[in-house]
Amino acid sequence: MEHEITRKDMLKWLDEKDPEKLSGLYREAYACKLRYAGPKVYFRGLIEISNVCAKNCYYCGIRRDNRDLSRFSMTEEEILEATKTVYDLGYGSIVLQSGECQDDAYTAFIEQTIRKIKSRTSQKIGITLSLGEQTAETYERWFRAGAHRYLLRIETSDPSLYEKLHPGDHSFEVRRDCLRALRRTGYQVGTGVMIGLPFQTHENLVSDLLFFQEEDVDMIGMGPYLPHAGTPLSWPDGNYDPADHFRLGLVMISLARLLLRDVNIAAATALQTLDATGREKGIAAGANIIMPNSTPTAYRKLYQLYDNKPCREENARQCRSCLEKRICGAGDEVGYGEWGDSPHFLKRHGDLRGAFPKNRQP
Ligand code: SAH
Ligand code: SF4
Repeated sequence: MEHEITRKDMLKWLDEKDPEKLSGLYREAYACKLRYAGPKVYFRGLIEISNVCAKNCYYCGIRRDNRDLSRFSMTEEEILEATKTVYDLGYGSIVLQSGECQDDAYTAFIEQTIRKIKSRTSQKIGITLSLGEQTAETYERWFRAGAHRYLLRIETSDPSLYEKLHPGDHSFEVRRDCLRALRRTGYQVGTGVMIGLPFQTHENLVSDLLFFQEEDVDMIGMGPYLPHAGTPLSWPDGNYDPADHFRLGLVMISLARLLLRDVNIAAATALQTLDATGREKGIAAGANIIMPNSTPTAYRKLYQLYDNKPCREENARQCRSCLEKRICGAGDEVGYGEWGDSPHFLKRHGDLRGAFPKNRQP
């Protein structure tokens, strides 16, 4: 029986700087991934459908008060076209992501778009949403339309740190309750945090990992915080050490794998900003999901959550061939045409695949 990794072990690893010891940790986490999540890496084509956002998170480049940015919203046809590209590339799933909007026109538009995506792909493509905080009713409508996974990062599990990163009308409790509403609705639920935030301690990061465990989430998507010049948040005195933030990003992936074992863990794009092969290193440290940017190239530069976001000039096809080479080079196999659902979710539900409504069957 493997021993469960403790708070003390995790704190020790977050402080570890010795490259050989760190390689040992990454190898152990990789072996844990093989054992509990299998040998495959799954791609989800990430389509950033709109940069319109009603919120004002202090760290984010597309926050409402950033006036230095023209706003776009993809049309239904554009989203269907981008989905077709992803589908033709053989990715089993898409992720639809945007700034946060809660108005009726938007929620109806998303619902209808989900239905069209499902019907145009003969129900075959899996849909993950990352569209922020919504009412339980909206989550339900989008689930019934055919989405089956949802990503909503808690950003930090520490309510007082959350307060420092957001204006007063943004609430930690509301966000946490959204995660619970998503779970009740039946989604595979993903959450995560930013790593290396100003004011964040290693104790905070360990608490984040334990929060994921307590909330019993199915998927983890976390990555380094990267400053954006047009936002109120930055590191005091520009005191940002990219190499150390990168190390923390990899250690957090490994610790999440060792603690949670059978969840899906994404190697975030932000890792690639700090290191050209950052996502591949994330896979070698225990992650099993990559979300290649599949946003039409023209919109990419308008969706800069942080400075120097990679692949601004590429298109989806170039992203696939570049990634495939790198992943296969690392000895992993890509699960083309598969949804690659969270083993944790399937186990909790006794592999309910046969019981899914028709529009959510692989
Ligand atoms: N509006 C939705 C989805 C888009 S933002 C939402 O907030 O959930 C997706 C994620 O981008 C956020 O959860 C946040 O963790 C991340 N993000 C935003 N600004 C960032 C930054 N400066 N550095 C790193 N990640 C950032
Ligand atoms: Fe909007 Fe999401 Fe950025 Fe916050 S993190 S400002 S909700 S896009």
